[in-house]
Amino acid sequence: MSRFRMYPTPAQQDALIDQCRHARSVWNLALEQWSMWTRDKGPTPRFPEQCRQLTEARAVFGWLRAGSNTVQQQALRDFDQAVKSFYAGTHRRPTWRKAGLHEGFRIVGAQAIRIEQVSRKWAQVLVPKVGWVRFRTSRAIPAAKSYRVTRDRAGRWHLAFAAIPEPIRASGAGRIVGVDRGVAVSAALSTGELLSCPGFSDRELERLKHLQRRLARCRPGSNRRLRGKMAIAKLYARARDRLKDWAEKVSTDLARRFDVIRVEDLHIPHMTRRPKPKPDPERPGAYLPNRRRAKARLNRGILANGWGALVRRLEQKAPGRVEKVRPAYTSQTCSVCGHCTPENRKSQAVFRCVACGHQAHADANAATNIAAGRAVGARRETPVRVSPKREPQHATSA
Ligand SMILES: [Zn+2]
Repeated sequence: MSRFRMYPTPAQQDALIDQCRHARSVWNLALEQWSMWTRDKGPTPRFPEQCRQLTEARAVFGWLRAGSNTVQQQALRDFDQAVKSFYAGTHRRPTWRKAGLHEGFRIVGAQAIRIEQVSRKWAQVLVPKVGWVRFRTSRAIPAAKSYRVTRDRAGRWHLAFAAIPEPIRASGAGRIVGVDRGVAVSAALSTGELLSCPGFSDRELERLKHLQRRLARCRPGSNRRLRGKMAIAKLYARARDRLKDWAEKVSTDLARRFDVIRVEDLHIPHMTRRPKPKPDPERPGAYLPNRRRAKARLNRGILANGWGALVRRLEQKAPGRVEKVRPAYTSQTCSVCGHCTPENRKSQAVFRCVACGHQAHADANAATNIAAGRAVGARRETPVRVSPKREPQHATSA
């Protein structure tokens, strides 16, 4: 995906929001039909049948007819893909699209190639039913057959072309690096480099707390509450942008400098999933503590450090060169003599081997172990079948 920032005029924004609403309604209707379907009604309607129903609905409802047919059909196509991915076991069940959260639509085919360069820094795209919308050409515009328009929670518009850039070529010198992902130091390399990913600054955290406290006092549905929510969303958007930027830079740097990149095989989706409530056998209706609060704190740590983003981008930029290593005991094992005991770990930051006296930064020592580690097999042996009509996807090594 290559993303550009889009700058629609206020009138265009209204028109774009309408399109987003149409895409969302169509998706939610398709989801409702799919989840309410029972066996006695016959086979579940799939994409062609739903398209036929859409044509009928457009004949009846003026507000639907006012929108772009492509936008609405692509919402159905996206839903169809979501259902297929769900049955293939690669994705979770499709969920409801919500206003303010899921704002976007897709344009494909002949309508997706109407793009003009206006000046050195500006270009414009002809969005159906909206008109020419300007966007900043922060990089070369790729040749793509489709694009997506989205609005993030901070109210910024983005234009994303579905094009996969060439993967970064290995240097060929046979260099191997281990990356240990931690909370105190975001990423430690086996070369001894310690990288830390920028999260919220102290001042931003202070402001966030202040805004949240003020939000709690606002009346639901009031304009003040809406403004407060927007201010919080902007803070988060800025932190997320910094995190993304960090993950992009570090992943490109690693993919260029090293031939094999070894990372811990942490099951982040498992770690971040909400723990199940544990019923108390003594008292019916009551629950035992399940470390939910502790996990919530950890979630923030994980997300703030952008581990997932970094590894995902690494696998996309250096396909086949990222190896996942079982992380057990990497933090307690001496990278020089291999002695493994919890006493080796003096503190969060200091590692000192009780057998040979080797001393190092704890995360750097773990990274060296990971660099030497045995890779675990890919979790999925058979490749997922992908429809040729789907947007191009990254080839990953996992
Ligand atoms: Zn040792």
